[in-house]
Amino acid sequence: MTEDCLFCKIVSGKIPSYRVYEDDSVYAFLDIYPASEGHTLVAPKKHFGNFTDMRAEDVTTLFEAARKITAAVEKAFSAEGSNIGINNGEVAGQEVPHVHVHVIPRKKGDGGRGIKSIVWTETDTANLEGTAEKIRKAL
Ligand code: 5GP
Ligand code: ZN
Repeated sequence: MTEDCLFCKIVSGKIPSYRVYEDDSVYAFLDIYPASEGHTLVAPKKHFGNFTDMRAEDVTTLFEAARKITAAVEKAFSAEGSNIGINNGEVAGQEVPHVHVHVIPRKKGDGGRGIKSIVWTETDTANLEGTAEKIRKAL
């Protein structure tokens, strides 16, 4: 629990939410400003500001819960698919600095697009081997 963190307060019940799932380490609840009906946020109970701060076991637990919730949300709203993702960092659109996975159910004709509609920058692809090498070196 981190003082002044909105989602820590939601996880601990200090601020009310529409809970859809809870276990020892994960809390999932409806997004109050949904992108589509059933839009759910899946958050670790432990406070992590950023996805890269998480440990392997916490990531595994979080994403297994997100997988289960995705299946349930799609079933509940007869969705044909969903977008599942994290806004990681303020520059990427993260407004609440407590890691959470968005599960956004999708239907044919809903007017939405795919993940590359979030950002599209002109990128030189002449040296993709060099690009891959930079990432390999950073790992
Ligand atoms: P982010 O931009 O950090 O990835 O997503 C934060 C999400 O939290 C937004 O989609 C926003 O609609 C949602 N949100 C903001 N305040 C509240 C709140 O008080 N309760 C709930 N349930 N969702 C919230
Ligand atoms: Zn928090």
